[in-house]
Amino acid sequence: MNDCLFCKIVAGIIPSHKIFENDRVFAFLDIGPVSPGHTLVITKAHAENLAANTVEDACALMVAIHDLALKITQAVGAQGYNLGMNHGVAAGQDVLHTHLHIMPRQEGVAREFKKTHPSQEELAKVAEMIRVQLNSAN
Ligand code: AMP
Ligand code: ZN
Repeated sequence: MNDCLFCKIVAGIIPSHKIFENDRVFAFLDIGPVSPGHTLVITKAHAENLAANTVEDACALMVAIHDLALKITQAVGAQGYNLGMNHGVAAGQDVLHTHLHIMPRQEGVAREFKKTHPSQEELAKVAEMIRVQLNSAN
């Protein structure tokens, strides 16, 4: 096992509020959400950034976004979402394992990119709401 935080989350060594996984992709709530439902979608295979991923994993990431982003948004009662990827330290990438941010947005609420600090219980509730929505939409 390497020393990568997100690899440890995929392996279950570090706990996360998981909402989805398949053979290539893993999705869980960001612990410092800029909005309720802020989700990180990552490739299971370690790669420092998108350019280092295989094309297959890069495609799997986008397929997961296609399938998840709107349902996550609806689950938290939002109407739109921002997608974000910080690619490289110069761009603000803190965790050097490919991840895409899904940030649901409510009409009339300022679109800030400021982290919030919900409790584990609050995050667990949001994750459960999203899982219910994902399961019911299948
Ligand atoms: P970036 O700045 O694009 O590398 O984003 C990394 C994200 O990972 C930040 O939004 C953090 O809040 C988030 N993060 C850091 N540690 C954890 C963790 N243990 N579980 C969930 N999200 C995390
Ligand atoms: Zn990793």
